[in-house]
Amino acid sequence: MNFQEAGSLEERLEIMGSLAGRFAERAANLDEEGSFPFANIDDLRNSGYTSLTVPKRYGGEEISLYEMVRLQEKLAAGDGSTALSIGWHMGIMKNLGEKKLWDEEIYRKVCKEALAGALLNGAASEAGTGSPTRGGRPQTTAEKDGQYWVLNGRKTFTTMSPVLDYFIVSASVQDSDKTGNFLIHRSAEGLSIEETWDSVAMRGTGSHDLVLKNVRISEECFVEEFVPGKKGANGWLLHIPACYLGIAWAAQTYAVQFANEYSPNSIQGTIIDIPAVRQRIGEMELELMKARHFLYSVAKQWDSSSEEDRAQMSPELGAVKLAVTNGAIRVVDLAMRIVGARSLSQKNPLQRYYRDVRAGLHNPPMDDMTIELLARSVIR
Ligand SMILES: Cc1cc2nc3c(=O)[nH]c(=O)nc-3n(C[C@H](O)[C@H](O)[C@H](O)COP(=O)(O)OP(=O)(O)OC[C@H]3O[C@@H](n4cnc5c(N)ncnc54)[C@H](O)[C@@H]3O)c2cc1C
Repeated sequence: MNFQEAGSLEERLEIMGSLAGRFAERAANLDEEGSFPFANIDDLRNSGYTSLTVPKRYGGEEISLYEMVRLQEKLAAGDGSTALSIGWHMGIMKNLGEKKLWDEEIYRKVCKEALAGALLNGAASEAGTGSPTRGGRPQTTAEKDGQYWVLNGRKTFTTMSPVLDYFIVSASVQDSDKTGNFLIHRSAEGLSIEETWDSVAMRGTGSHDLVLKNVRISEECFVEEFVPGKKGANGWLLHIPACYLGIAWAAQTYAVQFANEYSPNSIQGTIIDIPAVRQRIGEMELELMKARHFLYSVAKQWDSSSEEDRAQMSPELGAVKLAVTNGAIRVVDLAMRIVGARSLSQKNPLQRYYRDVRAGLHNPPMDDMTIELLARSVIR
C-alpha cells in the first residue's frame, strides 16, 4: 500500500512508521559522512508521499496541516535531516495551493510535475542579509532584459539542493523597490550548487549554496511579489516544530529503552526503578505532551479557519515553533542525563539528536522575534 491508497491518517502513519524505521537504520552513516539521503528521498517519492500536499484540484490528496505535521513528526523520529528536507517541499506546495500566490497556470504545471516526483524549495537566505524573516532586502538581483529576467547572486542554506527540481529564489528587482520570488528550474544555464554545507547539525540536509550567474528565465517565472519580512501568517512552517518534536520523541524512546535494560552492579534490576531516572522520564513525557497538544491544536485551528482568521494567527504559529523547539531541546537534554556519558559516544544516536535539535533555533521564526510579536499582541 502506498500513501495514496491509504484511506485514513492511521494508515498513513503506519506507512510512515515503516519508512522512518528504515531511515533510522541509515541515519548514523549519513550523519557521519555528512552525505545527502538520496535513498530516503527516493523512497518518499516512490511511496507517493511527496505529492500528498498537492491540491485536489490538480490531482493531489490535499492533506490537512494537522495530517502533515503528524506525518512529518513520525518521519523525523526516523531521520531529522530527511524530515526537514522534505518538509520544505511539502509545506510550500500546501501553502501555494491554499493562498493561490502564483499564476494558476504555472502552479498547475508545477503540481503536475510534483505528482510525478518533482521537488521544490525556497532559496531565500543569504550571507549578507541573514534570515529573510528579519526583513533585509535580498542582495540577489533580477534585471529585466526584454522578455527575460536575468538573475545574479548567491543563496546560503539551500536545503535539499542535491535533488531539487525547482528553486524559488528571492531577489531584488534592479532599479526598483520591488522584491519577489523567481521560479528557476535546476537545468537553467548559470545555476550551480557549491557544496558548502559543513554544519554539525542536520548534516544530511544538503543545505549548500546556490550560485546564480546570469541565469536567464522567462518573464512569467517572476511568480510572486512580496515585502521583505512581511509574508503574513504561514501555517505551513509548522513542519519545522514537527521535525524537532520527532527528534525529541526518538530521544525519549532511546532513553526509556536504555533505562529498561541498563543494569549496573551497584543496583538490583535496571535503572528504570531509580527515582531520579523516573523523574526525568516523567519530565520528558510532560514536555512532549505539552508540545503535541500545542502543535496539533494550532494546526487544527489553521485547518478549520477562514482565510481572514488565518491571517491573524502569526502569534500562535510563532509561539508553537518556540515552545515545541525549546521543549524538544529539553527532552534531548533529559534523555542524555538518563543515559549518562554513553550518550556522548560517536556511536550513540543521542549525540546526533543533540546536535540536530539545536538547528531548530535557527529556523524561522527566531525566538526573539516571536517574543516581540507576542509582547506587541498584548500591549496593543
Ligand atoms: C538546518 C537548516 C536548514 C535551512 N534551510 C533553509 C532553506 O531551505 N532555505 C532558506 O532560505 N534558508 C534555510 N535556512 C536558513 C534559515 O532560515 C536562516 O536564514 C539561517 O539559519 C540564518 O539565520 P540566523 O538567525 O543565524 O542569521 P542572521 O539573520 O544572520 O542572524 C545572526 C544573529 O544575528 C542577530 N541578528 C541578525 N539580524 C538581526 C535583527 N534584524 N534583529 C535582531 N537580531 C539580529 C541574531 O542574534 C542572530 O542570531 C536553514 C537553516 C538551517 C539551520
